[in-house]
Amino acid sequence: MSYLNVAEVETAAANLAAAHPSLCQLIALPNSTFGGRTCHALRLGGGAPGSRDCVMVIGGVHAREWGSCEIAINFATDLLAAYTNNASLAYGGKSFTAAQIQALLNGLHLLVFPLVNPDGRDFSQTTVALWRRNRNPANSGGNSNCIGVDVNRNFDFLFDFNATFAAGSGVNTSADPCNPNQVYCGPSAFSEAESRNVRWLLDTNPRTRWFLDLHSAAGDILYSWGDDENQSVSPSMSFLNPAFNAVRGLGGDAAYKEYIPATDLTVAQQLAVVFRDALQAVRGKSYTAKSGFDLYPTSGASDDYSYSRHFADPGKGKVYAYTVEWGTEFQPPWAEMALIVQDVSAGLVAFCLAAPCAANLVAVALSTPTLTFNDVPAGVETSRAAVFAVQTCSAVDFNVTVGPNVLSGPGAFNLPLGNGALPAAPSAAEREVRVWVSFTGTNAGDVTTGTMTVHCPQTGDDFVIPINANTIAQPTVNAVLVLDKSGSMDDPSGIPGQKRIDVLHAAAPGCPTPTASAW
Ligand SMILES: [Zn+2]
Repeated sequence: MSYLNVAEVETAAANLAAAHPSLCQLIALPNSTFGGRTCHALRLGGGAPGSRDCVMVIGGVHAREWGSCEIAINFATDLLAAYTNNASLAYGGKSFTAAQIQALLNGLHLLVFPLVNPDGRDFSQTTVALWRRNRNPANSGGNSNCIGVDVNRNFDFLFDFNATFAAGSGVNTSADPCNPNQVYCGPSAFSEAESRNVRWLLDTNPRTRWFLDLHSAAGDILYSWGDDENQSVSPSMSFLNPAFNAVRGLGGDAAYKEYIPATDLTVAQQLAVVFRDALQAVRGKSYTAKSGFDLYPTSGASDDYSYSRHFADPGKGKVYAYTVEWGTEFQPPWAEMALIVQDVSAGLVAFCLAAPCAANLVAVALSTPTLTFNDVPAGVETSRAAVFAVQTCSAVDFNVTVGPNVLSGPGAFNLPLGNGALPAAPSAAEREVRVWVSFTGTNAGDVTTGTMTVHCPQTGDDFVIPINANTIAQPTVNAVLVLDKSGSMDDPSGIPGQKRIDVLHAAAPGCPTPTASAW
């Protein structure tokens, strides 16, 4: 194997989806590139789209950083194969058990978008090896050297850097299409199909909690933020506040640092260290976990945009976002790149295993919107369960705060086992919790309705659950006979002198005498 061309990346993704139809779905991105290409992502993990928390991995944003696509494809390939074979997964000195791989793909969705910028990759692989941008000529003024936008400066985070950064900040962005460092940000945020496709994936997968953008070649895993140093004391000192436009992006000063809640910073660093340590265990490569700003200040980058979304719009979920900077050169010889693929894949798997527990997320869904006691015999006690599907590593409680009350009709609903609860777990694989409700049949024909409210203190959710019951008469016949073979009732019964029909007749006195011919 060697580096994949654009068609080969797309084929590899399509083949994975075709080979694992219940476990891997191919997603076509809505915005075609300037070159007319349609991009694809993969969703790994069963269950309906949106039913699980999600890790998103993207690659190939920068054209010349060839190996990112191979890392993304290899990561998906290895996980799907290990899961399907119920096998363990090993990369050099780092291994994962079969149970861990099962838990990973049973608990999460993985969105893998291996090639965000196919036009740029194709140009880099055929014409100008160190091409970084896409191939959109709209702002080139006809100069072939000035074609393209740096997709990783085109996201909506402090996009207008001339207005939002200090004059001397050194932010690694340019408004000049001909900028020799190829960091032209484009005419407006999300002017490019490639960045719009990434935004679309985030928008259409609102349970994305983690985002990793694969780049090279600094040997880092970068966590938030990328525009300035971090601080956790002053929420108003943030990218949302234009009062700091003149001082943003300078290192070593107190005038401005970007706000990150202390708990978020802890999680962001913890997961970066998990990635770094797993990667190092493969063959000893030592990457650095640090903030994006500690590499250099940026505007419009995918990681800052992803993490900033929930600050800019509290209706959006929080996404912990990272940039991986693999290797030490953009296009290492394939033999070395193959080893880097192993390094980074190990880091990604370890990251995905640790992510749900590190972030302490709790996702709860009610699987039984109504409790129905159907045809309960008079005088008989029976039970039904409110069932909750839970994804978390944390302990979770389900406390009945209202009821179960009767709203109409006779009888009573009770809680024979009290509230529901789950202990902490080592993975976020889906678990079920039951809150049992009992009802004793009253008089035949009665209909009873009720309600119960269950509160989950970890999420703040209140689930109001209607209860319905109806009572029927006690059945008076408690035996069912299943008979077969026509004419067999005339066979000997085993009791001397009696046929089977005689035994049946004796066992059911008072019934009309069946005739053998009727059977
Ligand atoms: Zn890059």
